[in-house]
Amino acid sequence: MRQSDPCPACADDGRGGTFDLTCPDCLAEWAALSPAPRYAFRWYGGGSYGHAPATEVEPAQSLREVRETVARRFHGCDSYRPAVDENSGAWIYRAGDLESLASYLKSGDTYPDFVTEFGPRGGVRVTPA
Ligand SMILES: [Zn+2]
Repeated sequence: MRQSDPCPACADDGRGGTFDLTCPDCLAEWAALSPAPRYAFRWYGGGSYGHAPATEVEPAQSLREVRETVARRFHGCDSYRPAVDENSGAWIYRAGDLESLASYLKSGDTYPDFVTEFGPRGGVRVTPA
C-alpha cells in the first residue's frame, strides 16, 4: 500500500533497500523484516550520497554485515552505489527503538553509535563513535 506521493526510498527501488524512518510505508516494511534488524546505517561522504535525508537508512543484523556491505561497495561490486570511495562509509545506529531513532535523526543531531573506517590495506573496520 503506497502513499500517493511516495517518499524517495519507496519511489526508487534503485536505492537498494533504503528506508526513510519518517515514511509510514517504509516503517511498515521495516517492521515486517524478520528477524528484526539490530542496526540501521546511513552513508556519509563519497560524491553521490550527500543528499539523502538523515532519516534514510538501511537495515543490518550485525556490525559484520555493515562492514561487508561497505567493503562490497568500496570494491565496486554494488551497481546501485558505484561511487563509494575511501571518504565514504557508514554511520551506524542501534535500531532497537525506531521511533526514538527517527526523532533523533530528524533533530539534526545525527552522531552515530559506530562508524566504519578503511584500514591502511583497504580493509573495513567498525569503531565505536
Ligand atoms: Zn517510504
